[in-house]
Amino acid sequence: MLLFDTHCHLTDMFDSLPESFPADYSCIGNILSVTYRYSDWDKNILFAKKFNNIIPALGIHPLFIPNGIQNHLKLYESYFDTFPKLIVGEIGLDFYNNLAQSEKQKQYDLLSQQINIAKRFQRPIVIHQRKAQQQCISLLKSIGFNNGGFAHGFSGSLEQAYKWIDYGFVLGIGCVLLNNNSRLRNILPRLPSSSWVLESDAPFMQKNNSPIIIQKIAKIAAQLCNKNIDDIIYNTTNNAYRILNLSN
Ligand SMILES: [Zn+2]
Repeated sequence: MLLFDTHCHLTDMFDSLPESFPADYSCIGNILSVTYRYSDWDKNILFAKKFNNIIPALGIHPLFIPNGIQNHLKLYESYFDTFPKLIVGEIGLDFYNNLAQSEKQKQYDLLSQQINIAKRFQRPIVIHQRKAQQQCISLLKSIGFNNGGFAHGFSGSLEQAYKWIDYGFVLGIGCVLLNNNSRLRNILPRLPSSSWVLESDAPFMQKNNSPIIIQKIAKIAAQLCNKNIDDIIYNTTNNAYRILNLSN
């Protein structure tokens, strides 16, 4: 079984569609290619049409809210009418320091409309959140969203981990695990193997980042969890398939 990168921004990595991927990508079986702005949506769909191991996600990120958002949301919904198997993401709340209440409200409004679309089309979502985990989960629950998804870039406490897990989400374990001092290194071995997946967040997080970084993350995870790397790959890939309702 091959690795599954559950969070990669392919549209930021390649200016145009590549003929093929670099040879060292051969350890990667699937990529969930997420977007954060409408100008990348068409390109992302083209990626998925060309490479059948790429799963496209469309989203408007809370830090990239364009002017005329209602028109963008209409367009957004029309993509799901045309391609009902799209994934929703990345979407979320980013309450970085000193964010004005009016900006928070804008993020809430945008997120709730995107969650409603996910609910209507029964799609899983990719959630980005900073300093807003409880607000995200409360909003999801108040809308009655029940299709699960990915808590992207997880770096929280054990208690926070279980808030997502109990709600049917898996945790996206990424480059934070490469940091020797990260709290995630203590938490990961205490999580059920069914509850997390691997993600690169490429091209962000690291210099020259690419999907193959998840091989390194998988190795560290294997050491921390005292498991064979093949078990880590098997579990994390299966978890991604389960959330995305893909058969393997
Ligand atoms: Zn991202």
